[in-house]
Formats: sequence, C-alpha cells, structure tokens
Amino acid sequence: GPVRYVVGNWKMQLEHQQGMKLATGIADGLRAMGPIPVQTVVCPSFTQLYGVHEILEHADLPEDRLALGAQDCYPAPSGPFTGDISAQMLAGLGVKYVILGHSERRQNHHETDAIVRQKVKAATAAGLVPIVCIGEHLTERNEGRAASVLASQIEGSLTRDFRGMIAYEPVWAIGSGVMPSRRELCHKLKLISALLPMHLTADGQTIPLLYGGSVTAALAPSILSIPDLAGVLVGSASLQASSFLGIVKVA
Ligand code: 13P
Repeated sequence: GPVRYVVGNWKMQLEHQQGMKLATGIADGLRAMGPIPVQTVVCPSFTQLYGVHEILEHADLPEDRLALGAQDCYPAPSGPFTGDISAQMLAGLGVKYVILGHSERRQNHHETDAIVRQKVKAATAAGLVPIVCIGEHLTERNEGRAASVLASQIEGSLTRDFRGMIAYEPVWAIGSGVMPSRRELCHKLKLISALLPMHLTADGQTIPLLYGGSVTAALAPSILSIPDLAGVLVGSASLQASSFLGIVKVA
C-alpha cells in the first residue's frame, strides 16, 4: 500500500537530554523493526534540532524511514527578526518537514490563516515539506460550523500549488483524551478531501491527510484503518519511544 506517515510533535515537553534519549530510542527501535513502508518524522523544539540531527545522521536509517521536522518557521528567509527561525535555517540543519499553523500557535501566537500561508510559501521555497494543521474548536463543532471553519482554513492557509500534508487536528481532541468517533472522523476527512481538488499538487498527487489529537498506540489501529487517512500527528504519545514505536508498528 501507500506510504504511511507517523509524525511526532514533541512540543515544548522535553529537556535537552530527554530529547536526545528519545531520538536515540526511536532510531534504535526503527532499525530493529527492519524495512516497513512508514515515514516516521520527529519534530523536536528548535534547540534540540541540531542534536537530534546528529543522532539521525549516525542512526544508519534512510531518510524515508526517519526524518527530522520542526514545529514552526518564520515567513521571511532572513533579516532583522530577533528570536525567529527561518525555513532556510531549518533546511540548513537537515530539517525536512515543518508543522505549520498548529492550533497552539494559532491560539498563543495569534497566527492567522494568512500568516500560515506565508509560512507555507517560505517552507516550500526552502525545500521543506509543510504539514499544515487545521481543525475546529469545540463550540464551532457543536454549533455545526466545523465544515465552514475547515473550508476557510484550507482556503486561507494553503497555496495554489501546495506541496505538503494536511493534519486535521480538532482542537477539542488535542491533549484531551477525547477523539472523534470513527464515523465523525471519516465524515470530516471526506469533507476536507472534497475541498482539496483545486489544490492538487503539480504532479497530480493528492495531498496526504493526517489526523492528530489524543492518538495512542491502542487507538491507532482503528484510526489508521480509515482509507482516506495517510497517517497521524502524535503529541503526548510521541514522547516515549515505546508508545511512539507502538504507533509506527500498526501504521
Ligand atoms: P496529543 O496527541 O497530545 O493530543 O497532541 C496532538 C497534537 O497536537 C499533535 O500536533
């Protein structure tokens, strides 16, 4: 079948040495698993990217098995932007993927769809694969507005020639232990797919859809059995090699 993606978003959860240990554990575990058609990606915080890259370099695993991702980037390639990190800088560090427009950034850093789109452009220009997060809040869902929220996020955050992935992360499912039912998730993914044809990538490839929000190794088999789904974006369960690799195993 097609390649599956299992992406770990470490957020701001790990001390430096914990991050290095986790990267080593994941690399060792993947090597032990042998060849499987799963693209695993780890997304540490900025300060840990260099160290994790060193570990991956020496892990003796091809990049299409284990790759490095970042959690954000700045829209401009360089300039007087104190404290910011450009997509170029990330690419220079061996980063291949970048999560953009995560709800925590939309919320805590007031990132609008327009800003996310600028970041998508910057990431693409630097040769990174953007993983754009979209998802409705609980009130939006309960008021029946999820479809229009997703439509405007897609319309506003993506570029015409988008080459990347979309992560559907209902905000109410993030870190809550609550997941949409399989039926609801299928419905939302269909909705998202229906909004995408005009954004088909240049080479006619469809955009891989990921799901994120309270994914665990126990729940992964049922999620990953959904045909429209290319993979998962994992928060908490990506912070331990055993639970993360448990998800990779069923992907
Ligand atoms: P949890 O898996 O901890 O719910 O986080 C999901 C997420 O936000 C991944 O980006």
